[in-house]
Amino acid sequence: MDLIEQPRCPNCGVVMRDEPGAYRCPACGRVIEVADVPPAPVFDGPAIHGG
Ligand SMILES: [Zn+2]
Repeated sequence: MDLIEQPRCPNCGVVMRDEPGAYRCPACGRVIEVADVPPAPVFDGPAIHGG
């Protein structure tokens, strides 16, 4: 679970480079936002209520 298969550019099929919050194709410059892959789990004790 350490290595994640990087996505490929839907445009030219080149392996995209990982960027903070997105993937970028080094060939055509296409950027795909990564909203489905959270950087880290957010389970830390009880939920914070109020402020
Ligand atoms: Zn591309």
